[in-house]
Amino acid sequence: MQSKFDIPAISTGDILREMAKEETQLAKEIREFMSKGELVPDKIVIEILKEKLAEDVSKNGFILDGYPRTLGQAKALENFTRNDAIIRLRVPEWILVERLSSRRICKACGAVYNIRFLKPKNPGICDKCGGQLYQRIDDTPKLIKERLKVYERQTRPLIEYYKGKVPFVESNTEKIDIPPDIAVAEIIKGLKKLNLPLKGKLG
Ligand SMILES: [Zn+2]
Repeated sequence: MQSKFDIPAISTGDILREMAKEETQLAKEIREFMSKGELVPDKIVIEILKEKLAEDVSKNGFILDGYPRTLGQAKALENFTRNDAIIRLRVPEWILVERLSSRRICKACGAVYNIRFLKPKNPGICDKCGGQLYQRIDDTPKLIKERLKVYERQTRPLIEYYKGKVPFVESNTEKIDIPPDIAVAEIIKGLKKLNLPLKGKLG
């Protein structure tokens, strides 16, 4: 997705997972929330995003991945940037559970695989860079269920919050074995229709 736009994607989840590896009190707290499938508190996440946006990444726009997850985060965002569009991926719960529980991610380049539907050519090895694939610690059936509950409670209200305020670009997935490229193509089509002031290439 990111390479199609020529603008950076900022994943607060990835940043938090990196931070969680450190040996600090903050890292320990982050690990505790994640190991329960809970969201890391707004105060921490907002601070991380603020620092990231203060770096040189935001001149030509950016994609936020996994942010905002709460109303508090959405309101904070309004204080430091403009939100041109919301990308909403609509996926039935059973597909999410299936996909997340068989997801594997490359340690080196972040490419995402699925040991059932999008297998790497060699088990455990990234097709793109030869890196090692791993499973996220929260991609277990129990924690996936918990994360879905947290989504319903804390994140779903954002749909109402943004309705009529910010345009939505939607992708609907109804089948489990559809390659991600198809959803990406659908989103790019939707974004083009919005005529956003994006620099660089779009699709
Ligand atoms: Zn890789």
